[in-house]
Amino acid sequence: MRFEPDRRCARCRLRIAPYDVRTVYNKVTYHQHCFLLLVREEADKDKARRAEAELAASARPMSA
Ligand SMILES: [Zn+2]
Repeated sequence: MRFEPDRRCARCRLRIAPYDVRTVYNKVTYHQHCFLLLVREEADKDKARRAEAELAASARPMSA
């Protein structure tokens, strides 16, 4: 019996079945749908960060 590498999804911690679609990113394995959610979450975080930065910039008008 061959040692199997970790076949758990890094996001939901559930085992990834052989018939599940896997996505490997940065040597980390995810379910495909989990990876898509992760990407969306990251994009949302990024958007929120950018919105915050814009808010901070507009709240503090440039003073010379
Ligand atoms: Zn998952």
